Amino acid sequence: MSTVRTYLDHNASMPLRPEARRAVVGALDAVGNASSVHAEGRAMRAIVEDAREAVAALVGVRASEVVFTSGATEANAWAVAGWGTILAPGIEHDSVLSPARTSGARMIDMAVGPGGVVNIEAVAAEIGRSAIASERTLIALQLANNETGVLQPLADVAALAAEHGIAVHCDAVQAAGRIAVDMRALGIATMSVSSHKLGGPQGIGALIVRDGVQRAPLISGGGQERRRRAGTENVAGIAGFGAAAEAARRDLGRAEHITVLRQRIEEGARSLAPATVVIGETSPRLGNTACLALPGRSAETLVIQMDLAGVAISAGAACSSGKVGTSHVLAAMQVPADIARGAVRVSLGWTTTQRDVDAFLAAWARIAAPETEQCVA
Ligand code: PMP
Repeated sequence: MSTVRTYLDHNASMPLRPEARRAVVGALDAVGNASSVHAEGRAMRAIVEDAREAVAALVGVRASEVVFTSGATEANAWAVAGWGTILAPGIEHDSVLSPARTSGARMIDMAVGPGGVVNIEAVAAEIGRSAIASERTLIALQLANNETGVLQPLADVAALAAEHGIAVHCDAVQAAGRIAVDMRALGIATMSVSSHKLGGPQGIGALIVRDGVQRAPLISGGGQERRRRAGTENVAGIAGFGAAAEAARRDLGRAEHITVLRQRIEEGARSLAPATVVIGETSPRLGNTACLALPGRSAETLVIQMDLAGVAISAGAACSSGKVGTSHVLAAMQVPADIARGAVRVSLGWTTTQRDVDAFLAAWARIAAPETEQCVA
């Protein structure tokens, strides 16, 4: 077993950025409650408000529109609560689909094509067909998919929704900090973001609620976050999130370099194992994500073998620990089962270098090449 680790699972959680670490530690050493009027309380409040500015700047909104939550799972649950009808594609993250399904709303599936992109004409037809009471209807559409990196035509869907007076929520967890996001230009109602997907600490995120959009709180019982989310603020988490958002915004210029490294991974993987399928390859997608499938192989076995070789990647959506089974995202894209079963995700970020690419390909050569089919028994 290798002791030198190669971490290529940034979509599951991105390594903490040094700026974020410093901000977290600094805030942990501060004293007081951000709601208190004394000097200590006001100093805590200043930390929170500075971070709010940084998160707002990352996605192009006003600071007053950023509501801190315990993460994007909470933000998504809040965004989908209380609607009569929700249109969402099957590729959405479980933290959107599961609360939407149990909310009692009528769910309408927005079909995606084999490339994983929703078809705008099909969405328009669905809106026409479904006799929608627009004021109680939500379209939930992610910006980038966590498993494939495939990007959605959010601006087009938002324009269509606006024509019909339908609200739009966007899970921008994987997009924020990886591509430029301008929520104001999109004209959508709500957007979720998560700190640990852009190099901040885990357990902190935000729902951006545009001014003028009314959302009853999901968590009540305190006046924090201008009565929109009760509970003493996670000031250290918020501070780290703000610092990470600032660093991620500065680093957007490195996206092209990361795309080059990802390209080397995909090309190298394919030359080592020509049967490799790059899922979502022909669709617009994030530059940091490679969804590689080896038909007939088991993704879980590949992940374990790569782990033993020192390389951390994931099988499908590995957000929840130990999650195995076929991916609902690939199923919604109608990826054939024998390909979907062999699909692994390799995701890059601010720590990734050519050394990681070399380490990945050296391990992949041993593990994925056709003659090395083997079992972890
Ligand atoms: N949406 C997407 C697309 C995600 O990838 C994740 C994290 N796996 C979440 C939501 C949930 O975010 P958090 O971990 O902050 O709850």
